[in-house]
Amino acid sequence: MAIQKPSNGVANGAPASAPAQPAELDASKVTITLAKELKAIPPATELKFGQVMSDHMMTVSYDPLNGWSAPEIKPYGPLSLDPASSCFQYATNVFEGMKAYIGPDGKARLFRPNKNMDRMTMSAGRVALPPFDTAELLKLIRRLVAIEQRWIPTQKGHSLYIRPTIIGTRSSLGVAASDHAMLYVICSPTGPYFASGARPVALLGIGESVRSWPGGTGGYKLALNYAPTFKPQQYAAKLGYDQCLWLLGDKITEAGAMNFFVVVRRTDGDLDVYTPPLDGTILPGVTRDSILALASAHPSRTLLPGLPETLRLHTTERELTMTELNTWAQNGSLLEAFGVGTAVIVAAVGRIGHEGKDINLPTYEGGLGPVGRALYDRISDIQEGKFEWEDWSVVCE
Ligand SMILES: *Cc1c(COP(=O)(O)O)cnc(C)c1O
Repeated sequence: MAIQKPSNGVANGAPASAPAQPAELDASKVTITLAKELKAIPPATELKFGQVMSDHMMTVSYDPLNGWSAPEIKPYGPLSLDPASSCFQYATNVFEGMKAYIGPDGKARLFRPNKNMDRMTMSAGRVALPPFDTAELLKLIRRLVAIEQRWIPTQKGHSLYIRPTIIGTRSSLGVAASDHAMLYVICSPTGPYFASGARPVALLGIGESVRSWPGGTGGYKLALNYAPTFKPQQYAAKLGYDQCLWLLGDKITEAGAMNFFVVVRRTDGDLDVYTPPLDGTILPGVTRDSILALASAHPSRTLLPGLPETLRLHTTERELTMTELNTWAQNGSLLEAFGVGTAVIVAAVGRIGHEGKDINLPTYEGGLGPVGRALYDRISDIQEGKFEWEDWSVVCE
């Protein structure tokens, strides 16, 4: 049997042509190989979240000597990785979630993509993966989305979900930072996140298993935050709840993989819109930020659909506790609760179980209450290019 020599050109140390400076991520170096055969796109009504992948993906890799390689857009397919890779052994995995929509002009659009790019470098930095030029990555994503445009469903509530991912590929079992990495982007056409559609979700308050803790990693989109949530999630499902409401003692942090909001009636007739502050235990959601901005803009800078001009929404980032939720529910001031995130946009919460009892939220036709509905409608209109707001909608060409 012939013994194969390693084919990476490295013999006794560095290759002769080692660059003086590791290369930055550079979108202009992209090579594009289109799939010979394109897949059939399933009907929009049959799409379940994240199950079908589009025809192409983008990959680029990093090594400490050469820096970032020339990016490739190529047919979607398996990756070949060393089983000792850091990502498999020590969970050096970071991901992002964003969506592309088709506007009335037929052009594909991304929603506030710079926020995802910034968060991705923050997350990568938290697990000591190499930094990358976020503007270049965004150029590559726009290019990929433009190539995959036929995969963007045009039905309301549908979009192309985009999953940028960066993984540590150092092949060594030594417990240390990964100095090699691979960054890739895959796309999946999606319909509404919850199979139930607009049905309000039931949350089970969970305090025995915690999703995040002070000084931990809950504020970063790291894969390692999610694996420990699946068992509590199965437990909640067994008891008839859709998602966990993650608690730290009495304190509410998030709902499933969504940021959590409540709407509380004030004595002066205005409404308070509360969400927990970004204290490191909360994922800094793009949807969360958008909701705070839009709710604060009503009615002075914009009128949210369906809400009276006389209504003021007082948005506050502040600690929320189960004790307060119970008090508000009992005195009738708890009007709405919802979870927010890219996948769902805004999901109504109908019921919250805690310590053997349920808090039942008021019910509304169509699921969402007036504030949740107004925010859902406005955000989806901005995403779909039907309403212009600041620089939130970015066209892909
Ligand atoms: C991704 C995510 C969110 C939502 O963030 P968006 O940027 O709005 O999609 C909220 N909580 C957790 C835990 C998440 O992973």
